[in-house]
Amino acid sequence: MQENLAGTSKAIWADGRRALIEWYRVNHRALPWREKPHPYAVWLCEIIMQQTRIEQGLKYWHTFMNTWADVHALASAPLDEVLKAWQGLGYYSRARNLHRAAQTIAFERDGVFPRSATEWKTMPGVGPYTAAAIASICYNEPVAAVDGNVLRVISRYVDIKDPIDRPIGRKQVDTFTAQWIHPKEAGTHNQAVMELGALVCKPKSPLCPECPLESTCINAQPALGTTPIPPIKMGKTKVKTVNLIFNVVTNGTHVWMRKRPAKGIWGGLWEFPTQELSLGSELPEQPPSEAKILPTAIRSRSQWGEPFEHILSHRRLRCRFVVWHIESEPILDQGQWLSWQEAEAKARPRAIDRCWERLEKSCLTLDNL
Ligand code: SF4
Repeated sequence: MQENLAGTSKAIWADGRRALIEWYRVNHRALPWREKPHPYAVWLCEIIMQQTRIEQGLKYWHTFMNTWADVHALASAPLDEVLKAWQGLGYYSRARNLHRAAQTIAFERDGVFPRSATEWKTMPGVGPYTAAAIASICYNEPVAAVDGNVLRVISRYVDIKDPIDRPIGRKQVDTFTAQWIHPKEAGTHNQAVMELGALVCKPKSPLCPECPLESTCINAQPALGTTPIPPIKMGKTKVKTVNLIFNVVTNGTHVWMRKRPAKGIWGGLWEFPTQELSLGSELPEQPPSEAKILPTAIRSRSQWGEPFEHILSHRRLRCRFVVWHIESEPILDQGQWLSWQEAEAKARPRAIDRCWERLEKSCLTLDNL
């Protein structure tokens, strides 16, 4: 950052802030939680929209608002139903934390929402960005909400030369945004920076000639679609490849499913018993001769499904499923027999869902099992 808000540059940044807020008033997208922001609606929106495109998240936001109209309804809902409604969004810890926070607000705070960002940060699943967004949008607290869009906009606007995905660059963004936030219109200001990042200061092709910050931005480009140098990033850590085999054990009418432990990846969701192969091993070409999860006395016949890949943020899953046909309903480790209809109603990780879709499409259709 070449300048700070001290001295002569302060007036320039104040001009930029004024232009930004005027631009936002005219150009922002009409979204249902924006007109009369209520903490329940804004909090739901902020949790759902993390790592999610707004077009996709909007559908989920409406589902949640229509199913659980207030925090008391959400707090009283069974967790399984909340996870089921979340299905397809991924990052299920967000749904579990949402439910826990609803219970805290409804049962321990008598339905009174936190007001300040500091109070919001004590709620499960609410980090500094989400806390600042809710406190500024609902109560105009002058705290800067810094998400990925804001990092990009600010690193260009004030020309940050250090990587913004490392503490040295991030600290400069935080220092600037804390000084720049409008003292009386913090909610509008925060939303304006985020909206600018989504609509104008885009990752690959910023639309500088259309930008309200053009005259005060250090990296403004004269032509549409050219990319300014920032933001500088160090990049993500290496994605690990994991080989998984999903064991679909069925007697035709019922299937064995188990619920994953509450903590860890896919916590609280239902899966076909899954084997993780040791690191460095390949997915086998042929079905195994016996299911390690079945007692040896149980006779079984196996069919192998086509392999597929499923990508998570930090892992590449190479998956294959095998259907084990058996005639009885033995009690196996950690799980229960469910009819196919019951199993379908359970909240499942997306990777298991994809296995389910393949089961239905392949010659192993559920009717034939
Ligand atoms: S002028 Fe261009 S680079 Fe600067 S904030 Fe606006 S869109 Fe981004």
